[in-house]
Amino acid sequence: MLDIRSLSKKFGSGASAFHALRSIDITIKEGEFFTLLGPSGCGKTTLLRLIAGFEQPSGGQLVLDGKDIAAIPPNHRPVNTVFQSYALFPHMTVAQNVAFGLEARGTKPAEVAPRVDEILEIVQMAHLRDRKSSQMSGGQQQRVALARALAPRPRILLLDEPLSALDLKLRKQMQFELKRLQRELGLTFIFVTHDQDEALTMSDRIAVMEGGTLQQVADPRSLYDHPANRFVAGFIGEANFLPGTIADGKLILAGSPPAPMPRDTKSSGQVTVMIRPEQVVVGPTAQEAITLDGRVEALVFSGTDTHVSLRLQNGNTLSLRSPNTSHAGTSLAEGQRLQVSLPIDALRVLPEEIADAA
Ligand code: ATP
Repeated sequence: MLDIRSLSKKFGSGASAFHALRSIDITIKEGEFFTLLGPSGCGKTTLLRLIAGFEQPSGGQLVLDGKDIAAIPPNHRPVNTVFQSYALFPHMTVAQNVAFGLEARGTKPAEVAPRVDEILEIVQMAHLRDRKSSQMSGGQQQRVALARALAPRPRILLLDEPLSALDLKLRKQMQFELKRLQRELGLTFIFVTHDQDEALTMSDRIAVMEGGTLQQVADPRSLYDHPANRFVAGFIGEANFLPGTIADGKLILAGSPPAPMPRDTKSSGQVTVMIRPEQVVVGPTAQEAITLDGRVEALVFSGTDTHVSLRLQNGNTLSLRSPNTSHAGTSLAEGQRLQVSLPIDALRVLPEEIADAA
């Protein structure tokens, strides 16, 4: 539906020029909940602003339904934006705010009122239609902002960190609500966030960005299970990184004998091996695994499980989880010797070498 082709954006010129986006290629499908995820300054908002038409690209193309939209001004593009700050008019009522969005896009006057009623029903704000937007809670303002952006029936809704001003409980509720709306309306959402949990729970697919470049595009499960590189592995969830070597079709971690290579290993030589903390097994396992010895350095109780930090004999540290299933609590103690198993199937070999292997 939306083809982002070799899109780049440079701010300024000459020696002070800054590349906010470098040759971004993404194809977004109709009806998809697509998330742009990355740390502050990685270029997420810039990409959203290019799609909205608030900025012009320095290179590349934006093709919507087969047509290049570069020359179309923002208010004529079939996309609409929900901003982080809501950008509502405080002196206007809820209904007037939503109507404003329609009038600004040239909706025929006779169609405005019925459309306002319809969309306020959808976001469950009809009962507050005559309330001033300054007299509403953050969550209610968010719904109005959403209604205003949805009212002109855009083909794509762009959402720039729309939940970041809400407290945690409301944020979780609105995540669920947004997802429901997107499914019910069958709309394409492009959602910007720096919160990996939010991205994992809401998205059909996620684009992970860093320094103006695209690191990986995949569904949440694939990103978590098969990160393309160390940046993605570390940004999505928690990860252990261990230095290793691939030689003669075997994987060697310091202090352990050569083991079978994990499936899909493409790299060779010095590599980084990644394993998620919850995949590390305390003691032996029936699965094919690498066994490592260490000493418990720290234990942190976190409700469902205890976070264990293990100093391995080879000098590296390893994080793991010990489930708190027994009423007697965890049997682990700080300073204790511990043997752990790293199942081969849970290991991911990443191409980069660890420069500062501890
Ligand atoms: P955040 O999560 O903090 O909003 P972001 O990933 O959305 O970050 P962008 O707002 O897209 O980041 O900014 C990307 C980079 O481009 C930043 O380093 C920013 O300082 C720079 N930038 C953005 N707009 C401009 C501008 N108008 N002029 C110069 N540099 C800009």
